[in-house]
Amino acid sequence: MDELVCEGCGVQLQTEDKKAAGYTPASALEQEHVICQRCFRLKHYNEVQDVDYDDDDYLRMIQQIRNTNSLVIKIVDIFDFDGSFISSLHRLVGNNPILLIGNKVDLLPKSTNKNKVINWIKKSASDYGLKVQDVFLVSAEAGVGFEEVEKTIEAMRDNRDVYVVGCTNVGKSTFINRLIDRTSGVKDAITTSYFPGTTLGFIQIPLDESNFLYDTPGVVNRSQIVHYMSEKDLKYITPKKEIKPRVYQLNAKQTLFMGGLARFDYEKGEKQSFVCYFSNQLMIHRTKLEQADEFYKKHNGSLLQPPDEKTIELLPELVKQTMKLPNRKTDIVFAGLGWITVPQGGITVSFYIPRGVHISIRDALI
Ligand code: GDP
Repeated sequence: MDELVCEGCGVQLQTEDKKAAGYTPASALEQEHVICQRCFRLKHYNEVQDVDYDDDDYLRMIQQIRNTNSLVIKIVDIFDFDGSFISSLHRLVGNNPILLIGNKVDLLPKSTNKNKVINWIKKSASDYGLKVQDVFLVSAEAGVGFEEVEKTIEAMRDNRDVYVVGCTNVGKSTFINRLIDRTSGVKDAITTSYFPGTTLGFIQIPLDESNFLYDTPGVVNRSQIVHYMSEKDLKYITPKKEIKPRVYQLNAKQTLFMGGLARFDYEKGEKQSFVCYFSNQLMIHRTKLEQADEFYKKHNGSLLQPPDEKTIELLPELVKQTMKLPNRKTDIVFAGLGWITVPQGGITVSFYIPRGVHISIRDALI
């Protein structure tokens, strides 16, 4: 039994626990090609079954790519770059070449310099120690940037299989659906969902007579804020349209709340304009710093929404960091939520974000 793995997704097969990964009825083991119940449902009924995978299961599955000779397409959400980056990818995919795709470019304001964004992605990938062949920006939802990507995939794969990898919620399913739609006209070939983790199991899509494109399970990165949100709140914080920058003129000792999910305190410096890039639906509240603690205690979950009741249960407490920003135009990035651009650096700020969620500082993207 130990040696048997599902031919669909590679998970180790078992016949004991119906709810756990790799379950297959004992009778199925007698067949020549054995797949787990989950892949069976997906294949025959196009139905996605929730199973209890843990993070290691996901990584183990992705690790199988190491033993293939293939092209790897890694998708990141440019709106949640740090949260959606798989830092161990090199180890997981071995020597296979990697194409890095930044998805959700439609969310950036139209005036954004795309080359600057590409250069930022290249530099960030290299800072993470990931060597990539090339970087592209796309919108899987709007179908932007696909001609170039398709051409490059064809040229680079050179009669090999293609594996598409990414964290949950980066838009991997939407990306693959878009590719399939463009080549075959079939819509929504694989399931899309607001909720992370619906793309379990390798889904195999023929590219030509001998090669396949594989949709791999979404890797769960615990620093993604999406894992701590109710379905309703996830809709609030997931931007759907081009983000409208919101500008706040702040004096020192003023505070901004992004719902009750994050907080920004302007501690020390001259009056200046801070530009907020968050989902247009996420409410931003300004208060005086001296009243901010009280305000949060009183209004978290009511005036400060999200979180709703369910998210409050899931969300780790907010933790504070204080820092002096470098002397240039800087972004403070709240992974998975958005960022605040500070036009003139050299100021002291504090920010609060749920424990475990990534916060980073970068040269301003826009
Ligand atoms: P997966 O978990 O990586 O397979 O991600 P999905 O394809 O299910 O997408 C996750 C969420 O991101 C869904 O709410 C999609 O509608 C959204 N999404 C996917 N691609 C894009 C895109 O190009 N632009 C925007 N704005 N949203 C996208």
